[in-house]
Amino acid sequence: MRHNSAARRGAPGNPYSFRGGAIFKAFRDLSRWKGRALDLLFPRACELCGTRITDAAWDVACASCAPHVEWIRGRGCVRCGAELEEAAGRRCRECAGKAYAFKGAVAAGRYEGFVRELVHRFKFGGRLDLARPLAERILDRLRGASWGAAIEVIVPVPMRTSKILFGRRYNPADVLAGQMARRLDRRLSRAVAQIRATPSQTRLTGEERLKNPQGAYRARREGTIRGRVVLLVDDVLTTGATASECARCLKETGAAAVYLAVVGR
Ligand SMILES: [Zn+2]
Ligand SMILES: [Zn+2]
Repeated sequence: MRHNSAARRGAPGNPYSFRGGAIFKAFRDLSRWKGRALDLLFPRACELCGTRITDAAWDVACASCAPHVEWIRGRGCVRCGAELEEAAGRRCRECAGKAYAFKGAVAAGRYEGFVRELVHRFKFGGRLDLARPLAERILDRLRGASWGAAIEVIVPVPMRTSKILFGRRYNPADVLAGQMARRLDRRLSRAVAQIRATPSQTRLTGEERLKNPQGAYRARREGTIRGRVVLLVDDVLTTGATASECARCLKETGAAAVYLAVVGR
């Protein structure tokens, strides 16, 4: 909660993922109050070196650290958003022979080094204030995509409610999607629900990982999806199996096309 109060005023609404009862509201209000108090105590700082940033446009890194952040600056794979080598075609090597249900994707950065660290701080460290700069980075990539302007609805990759209530407190994909919807002035629709738990991907083999999310999701809110160009949002894209399964559900429900945006690839 380090960005200044002026920036906070410029970003109305709250970034929390759940719609909840009084307890959640009280918690959210407390967080806001705490955020304002922290703004006064701690000025914005570079996430890498801790240097105070005086720049009006708050980003995650100071001017000297910024070039070292693994943001994707060149061309991205049209299928999955991965950074492409200079000599590569339109697709990365990993996408050869793979079929995703989403039509194309953009990624803000390579999922390694500092980008990975940022995602972890945002995902597990309760650093909800990182949602805004991370969403901005994704939006930068989206502006460069041929299909970026066609997006009509933004849908987060869901997390099970029990996981939010009893563990994580928020779904990072949902927080990111909310930020992006506000900035793009598009509708946010929680049109995909997770209906069963999926085993942790880390213990599975490559093939098991691809099959793991099958049947774990269901699309709903057909009215906001049918005939629309949908942008699915997640924090990272690894095998692409989860995002692909969510995209498949959305298409089955009548989405005209589904694209994907992530922080790390
Ligand atoms: Zn720095
Ligand atoms: Zn690719």
